[in-house]
Amino acid sequence: MEPFIQPFQYNFIRSQIDSMIQQLSAVHDPDVRDAVIYSASKKIFDLLPVLTAEQEALLMVVRTVQTEADFARYLEDIQPFVQSFPSITEQQLQQLFRKTKKLRHPPLHSIDFLKTTYLSWNDTGNKKKFFVYPLKGEWIGIEGTYLPTIQKGICTICNQYSDVTLVSARTNQSADQYRAIGNYICIDSDHCNEQVTDPIALEKLLSKMK
Ligand SMILES: [Zn+2]
Repeated sequence: MEPFIQPFQYNFIRSQIDSMIQQLSAVHDPDVRDAVIYSASKKIFDLLPVLTAEQEALLMVVRTVQTEADFARYLEDIQPFVQSFPSITEQQLQQLFRKTKKLRHPPLHSIDFLKTTYLSWNDTGNKKKFFVYPLKGEWIGIEGTYLPTIQKGICTICNQYSDVTLVSARTNQSADQYRAIGNYICIDSDHCNEQVTDPIALEKLLSKMK
């Protein structure tokens, strides 16, 4: 079986199971327990509506998850089927940011692409944040600037309460070329990638900044 779960879908499954385990710990009535398990598994199957019989059988094990040990085993079992972020080369990165002088990005071999929904890194010296994403099959590279102040708030991309910073980037939706939009985004992109469960907000944001 080929990988078929996107990294953000894996995060979604993990968060669903997490909340299911929490709910189950407080519920002893078998009917209510069944309802909790059914509701979590339905959300998982709604997220992945088109599955082969083999893929469905793998995910269906969620119906038997009861304890934290089951939960850990289930996540381990589905992990080999997580799809990697599409491969990208150094040259492609340079090309995406050809206007940027001395582009500094993390070595590609150091990135865990199985946990990557969007590629992003900070240039701390210049207070710049870079985003790379295959938007509708086409690579886009966006450079924003961020404020040194880190605060607690909701991240525009992962929608979680996190350590965020105000990232500004020039918008393409105004005749005024100097108009910039600011969004609070996780300062730690790896952490954000582990929290993102839906790429809609990310895609909306990146297409505005493109
Ligand atoms: Zn985030």
